Amino acid sequence: MNKTVGLMCTQEKKQIIGNFTKLVISIFFLLLLVLFPIAKVSAAGLSIKYDGKTIDYTSTQAKVTLDGKSVSLGGTPGIIIDGTCLVSYKEVFQIGLKASCQYDSKNGTITIRQYDTTIHMTLDSKTAYVNGLKKTLEVAPKKVTFNAKKVTKIYVPSRFVAETLGYSYTWNTSKKTAQIVSPFIIRYDKDWIVYKGTKGKVTFNNKSVNQTDMPSIVLDGTTLLRASKVIKDTLGAEYKYDSGTKKITISKDDVLIEMKVNSNQALVNGKAKTMGTKARLVTNKATNKSYIMVPGSFTVKELGYSYTWNSATKTSVIEKKSTTYCSYDWSSSLTEDNIVTSVSAKYNDYKDSIVIKGKENFQYTVSQSDTKKTLYIDIPNIYQNFEEISHSISDGYFINSLTISKKGTGIRLTVKKTSKASYYTSCSGNTLSVIICENNSSNQSISGYQLKIPVPDTVDFSAITDQDQYYNKKFIITIKGNYKSYFDTHPITYDSAIVSKVAVSVTSSNNTKVTVTTKRLYGYKYLDCGSYIGVKIANPSKIYKNIVVLDAGHGGKDSGAVNSKKAAYEKNLNLEIIYDKAKTYFNAKDSEIKAYWTRTDDTFVELSKRAEFAKSVEADLFISLHMNSAGSTAKGLEVLYASNNKNTMSGLNSKKMAEIFKQQLIEDLNMTDRGVKDRTRLIVLYKNSVPSVLIELGFISNSSDVAKLVDDTFQEKAAKAIYDAALTCFQKYPTGR
Ligand SMILES: [Zn+2]
Repeated sequence: MNKTVGLMCTQEKKQIIGNFTKLVISIFFLLLLVLFPIAKVSAAGLSIKYDGKTIDYTSTQAKVTLDGKSVSLGGTPGIIIDGTCLVSYKEVFQIGLKASCQYDSKNGTITIRQYDTTIHMTLDSKTAYVNGLKKTLEVAPKKVTFNAKKVTKIYVPSRFVAETLGYSYTWNTSKKTAQIVSPFIIRYDKDWIVYKGTKGKVTFNNKSVNQTDMPSIVLDGTTLLRASKVIKDTLGAEYKYDSGTKKITISKDDVLIEMKVNSNQALVNGKAKTMGTKARLVTNKATNKSYIMVPGSFTVKELGYSYTWNSATKTSVIEKKSTTYCSYDWSSSLTEDNIVTSVSAKYNDYKDSIVIKGKENFQYTVSQSDTKKTLYIDIPNIYQNFEEISHSISDGYFINSLTISKKGTGIRLTVKKTSKASYYTSCSGNTLSVIICENNSSNQSISGYQLKIPVPDTVDFSAITDQDQYYNKKFIITIKGNYKSYFDTHPITYDSAIVSKVAVSVTSSNNTKVTVTTKRLYGYKYLDCGSYIGVKIANPSKIYKNIVVLDAGHGGKDSGAVNSKKAAYEKNLNLEIIYDKAKTYFNAKDSEIKAYWTRTDDTFVELSKRAEFAKSVEADLFISLHMNSAGSTAKGLEVLYASNNKNTMSGLNSKKMAEIFKQQLIEDLNMTDRGVKDRTRLIVLYKNSVPSVLIELGFISNSSDVAKLVDDTFQEKAAKAIYDAALTCFQKYPTGR
C-alpha cells in the first residue's frame, strides 16, 4: 500500500515540471517573433534579377556535386527556370569541372571546351552548337544578378552542358542537388577522348569476368576485349605483346593469331584476315593504366569459342563451342561378336559426354573410383579386335582422357575427370550416353531427392543405419543421437506424391528414428549431402543395381516336408536359411544385391503370388529354397529350373542360373550332386517373369542330410553360398544399371 502512494506523488511532480517547461518555451518563441519579424521573411526568398525583371525567387536553391564532392558555388546557388536547373558556368564548369571556358561580353557568347567537345552558346538564345552541330536548348543561358550580394553571373543549363561534355548527370530531388559524375576518359590515338559508348561486360561459360578498370569498349561497332585479362587469363591462350614492333601474338592449340596495334589486319595461321576494327593500346586516364585490346568476336571465334553479344545486358558472352574431342568407328570392320560400333567423347552446353553406339542393345555398368577422378564404363561379353586406345583430352570441360581397353570378355572405357564433376547416364535406342556434368546440376537423376532430412554438423553419417520394411511400405533411418527438437526448427521435407507420412521418434538408446511411409513399394537410398541426408525414393530398378527375390518355400498352414523323428519342418528350415541367415549378407551395408523376401515369418503365401511379387519389385532373379523328401536313402542337392520360362537377364536364363547355383552350393556345402533339372510344372518357376531357380538343398528324409539342414553352421554356409551364387550371376551377366 505505502509503495503505491509514494509512486503517485512522484508522477504528479513530473507533470507540474513538464507544464512549466512548455510555458517557458512558448514565451521564448513569442518574443522571437516580436523582436525579429523581417529576418523571418527574407530567409524564405532570394531577390534576383534576370530577363530585365527583379523577382523574389522562392523555388529550389540547387547545390552541385562532382563525383560525390560538393562544388563551391561562391554563394550563388543553382536556380530552376521552367523546370531546368541553371548554374554559373564559372563556378561549376570552369572551376569545378576544369573545362576551358570563355565568355565574350561584347557578343554575349559562351564557349565551353573539354577533350573533344566544344559547346557554343549565346545569352538569351536557345540555339547552341556542339562541335558545330546545331542544338536547341530548353532554357537559354542568362545573366543573373543576385541583389543582396550585388553580383551578376552567367548562368547556363547545367544538365545540357554536363552531359554534352560526357559527364553523367542525375538530379537528386530530396537533396536538391545536381549530381555530376566524371566521364570515362581514354586514349587510343593521340588525344584523350570522352568515351560515351557502351562499357561492356564479359562472361565465359556463364561466369562473369572481372575486367578491373577497363571494360570492353565498342569502336566502329566492334567490341574490343582486353587481351591479357580475357584472352589470356580467361580463355587460357598464350599472349605476347612487343611494344617495339607493336606486334600482338595470340595462340591456343593449333591456332596462331598475329595482329598489330592500330591495324585491322590479322594473320590467322599465316592467312590474312580483316577485322571489324583495329587492335588498340588503350589508356584509362583515371588510373593511368594501358591495355592491349583486340576485336572480341574475331579473336574469340578464331580461337574456337562461340561469341555472342547480349545487347540487353551489354555483355560479350563467350562459351566453349560444342566440339568432339575424339571419335572411333568400327562399323565397317564389325565382326559377329562385336556389339559396339562407335565411341566418341564430346562437349556441349557445359557438359562432356561419352557416347557409345551399339548395333543392338547392350549391357553396361558405370562406376566411379573413390576419388571421383575416374569413371569406368564396362561393356561385358563382347569381342573387340583392337589395340588399346588412349586419347588425352587437353580441352575437356571436365574430362582429361579416354582409354578403351579389353577387360575380360568385354571392354572397359576409362574416363579421367576432375573430381568436382558428377555424371549420369542416358539411353536412347542402342545409344548409351554417359554425361559428365557439374555437381549439383539441375539434372533430376543426380540431384533430385524425394526426402531431405536436415542434420547438424555433428551428425556422424557413417553411423546412420536403415531398415527396409517394404512389406509395410515403410523404411526407417536411424541417426545416432537425439535430434527430435532439432527437427522442430529444421523440418524434414518430402515429395508428398511419393511419401505419405514421416514420423520421428527417439529410441530407448537415445537415437533418432525417422520412419518414412511411402504411397506404394519403392526403393530408396540415402546420401551424405553435408547439411542434410538426401534420400532418393523411386521404383526399385531406379535405385538398386541388382535385385533378387528370396523365397522361403511353404509357410503357415503348409509345412512342406517334415521329419517328425527330428522335429524338422521344411517351412522353418527354409526361412531360417534364406531369411534369418541370408539377410546378414543381402542387407549388409556393402551388399551389392538388394533382396526382397516373399515372407519373413511363418505365414502362408500363394505360389502364384510369389511369382507375381518378383515382377512387382522389379526383380532380376528369383530364388526359391526347398528341401526334398523321399525314401531314407535318397540324398543330395539339386537345382530346378523351368525351360518354359524364357525370361533372360542380360543373357542369363533360368538354366544357366541353375548351373551357377548348383556349382556354388556343391562346392561350398559338400553335398551329393544331383545336378540341375528341368521342371516345367512348378508355378514359382514357369510363372515367373525373371530367371528363376528352386533349390532342393537336401533330403529332410535322409538322416545325414537332415543333420546338416538343421545345423547352424551349415545353414550359415548355405546362406552365404546363395548370396555368392547370386553375386556370380550379376558379375557374369550385369544388369547394366
Ligand atoms: Zn518344398
